[in-house]
Amino acid sequence: MLNPPPNPFAEARFLISAAQLSQLPDADRPELAFAGRSNAGKSSALNRLCGRRQLARVSKTPGRTQLLNFFELPQGRLVDLPGYGFAKAPRNLREGWGELIEGYLASRECLRGLALVMDARHPLTGFDRMMLGWAQAEQLPCHLLLTKADKLRPSEQRRTLREVERELPTVHEQASAQLFSSQTGDGVEEAREFLAQWLN
Ligand code: GDP
Repeated sequence: MLNPPPNPFAEARFLISAAQLSQLPDADRPELAFAGRSNAGKSSALNRLCGRRQLARVSKTPGRTQLLNFFELPQGRLVDLPGYGFAKAPRNLREGWGELIEGYLASRECLRGLALVMDARHPLTGFDRMMLGWAQAEQLPCHLLLTKADKLRPSEQRRTLREVERELPTVHEQASAQLFSSQTGDGVEEAREFLAQWLN
């Protein structure tokens, strides 16, 4: 049997958290950012992609959930953006969140692409569309990870992907999508291969 290809994200390690744009590390390496609704499965996806159980745990620790968390790789960086869609947050916090993320997406010259993690059972929520809109405005390529695919039957998985792929071009011209499961590992190799291109 063939050996699996080497994991391009295997050596990820936590670098720094940033609460404001002034705290970002120097923009001297290519970056790949991860965003998604809270609870969509972003931390699990990051851990699975990197082949590490607890890598994204730092992004979940109290006080860090609203920060941009940077992970260093030999070829660039992964950036875990704060989860969105916490409807109960006070208005000014939501605004602060939006400013930080929008500011990052708009000003980061070394940002090569955005991985958007969505629960395959309810993809393309209002917040997801807003993120795609921001990314489109910045001409930033996006790749959707439709995660928790294991919770859908194969026929539902295919239908979901088909529907998302049909709708995506209306919100973002340069976006692609795939099925993913942190639980079963389905789609993990495909996602690694696709996302690693952005850091080359
Ligand atoms: P985050 O808030 O987006 O970082 O989401 P988490 O990664 O913490 O996941 C939220 C919940 O969904 C947790 O209970 C995870 O165990 C679960 N989860 C995440 N990914 C998957 C998946 O691929 N399949 C299944 N069945 N559950 C998942």
